Amino acid sequence: MPSSDGKETIRSVEHQPIYVTPEEQEKERQAIEEIKGLSQRPQSYFIVTYGCQMNAHDSEKLAGLLNAMGMTEAEDRLKADFVLFNTCCVRENAERRALGNVNWLKELRKDKPDLLIGVCGCMVQQPLMAERILKQYRFIDLAFGTHNLHRLPEMLLSLLLNRKRVVEIDRQENLIAEGLPVKRLHSWHAFITIMYGCDNFCSYCVVPYVRGRERSRRMEDILREAQELRQTGVQEIMLLGQNVNSYGNGNENGESFPKLLRELDKLDIPRIRFMTSHPKDLSDELIEVMATGKHICNHLHLPVQSGNDEILRLMNRRYTRESYLRKVEKLRQAIPDIGLTTDLIVGFPGETEAQFEDSLSLVREVGFDSAFTFIYSPREGTQAAKMEGRIPEEESSRRIGLLIQEVEAATARANESMVGKTEQVLVESLSKRDNTKVSGKGTRSVTVTLEGTEQDIGKIIPVKITSAATNTLRGERTER
Ligand code: SF4
Repeated sequence: MPSSDGKETIRSVEHQPIYVTPEEQEKERQAIEEIKGLSQRPQSYFIVTYGCQMNAHDSEKLAGLLNAMGMTEAEDRLKADFVLFNTCCVRENAERRALGNVNWLKELRKDKPDLLIGVCGCMVQQPLMAERILKQYRFIDLAFGTHNLHRLPEMLLSLLLNRKRVVEIDRQENLIAEGLPVKRLHSWHAFITIMYGCDNFCSYCVVPYVRGRERSRRMEDILREAQELRQTGVQEIMLLGQNVNSYGNGNENGESFPKLLRELDKLDIPRIRFMTSHPKDLSDELIEVMATGKHICNHLHLPVQSGNDEILRLMNRRYTRESYLRKVEKLRQAIPDIGLTTDLIVGFPGETEAQFEDSLSLVREVGFDSAFTFIYSPREGTQAAKMEGRIPEEESSRRIGLLIQEVEAATARANESMVGKTEQVLVESLSKRDNTKVSGKGTRSVTVTLEGTEQDIGKIIPVKITSAATNTLRGERTER
């Protein structure tokens, strides 16, 4: 059993990755063919995704599998024959929202008796959730955990043939499934998962329990995927993992994140991004690769969580305020125009006013481009959930209000400093308010709006920044 006290860092043989075998892959392929041949099968699907980018990419794989079964994506959940909720359990809020929405769909079935309802992802993987679904959510037809995604065809086939609900939560957590079909959201941007799970056991976090222990894909598989994407004309790849900096830990051939980045850089994909990075694993070698790589964006999301050493110790983050600041300094020396973003938690058990103020002063000191701010949310099974000194909701709300003000001031300063500079903007969408404008992201990951049309979406355009708003920049293209 993995230790949850955060002290265990050594990987044992039982945590080495296990690849889904060609025989198992063949079974799934056969299930896909069988489903396609069924006269009574859902024709359309809709996936509702909660949570992080890892989940967003999992949904792209689920959509890829459903498309391969001959289904098409419905415009919305009301029009779909099969609705699948890909859930998150990192915060209680997300879990409550997901269950509320699933319940709401139950009503829809009164008018649409053949509607199939599925639930998958992190929430389902939690201990006792399978039992809860079986007892309390009897209308759910299909439920599966994070380690069973690749088995969707067989599970769905069993449901369709036997008309009996399927609940599959595998505890074999070190699986890696290669070669799944992916229905990507955009042709110009692609997620590539490079590693799964996490070994860090931060005391507030449920991820190691629901996503399993850390395991990395083989570098050759990642490079092949990136190469194929390059050939389709993708403009930007985003490498995903709970802690990308420790990519390769446990793989043969000394594979590591800096090495992977170096190799990817040679493929000449215009932009490479990655997330998330744990500060303790940010090495000098990685900083050097980021500084010298031709295609690696000058942006780093480096979650700090707190500016106070005692809180960081209780969170089991394994770095100090001082060591975090030293890394920031090194990054800025090597890459002067780097954009830094972060995550911060307020109201961790026992957090005093002075400890909270350390977070405020850290935001001032670093000057982040932006930050995701959260009120601590206790998660069952984690070490922090057992800690004393729960901060009252009202107090946590006051603290997050102050923190948001501090972050906004830092964002305003960072945005102001970019006025007059030229940014390479990858255009992502047409503005919702004004269809003569488009918006996209510069390499620092700040949103920039400029004049443009739908034809600009997916293109990288040089833009001179003319002014800064609260969270975005405005600019003018420097060439037509
Ligand atoms: S490193 Fe991230 S994913 Fe891993 S335990 Fe800590 S917060 Fe959770």
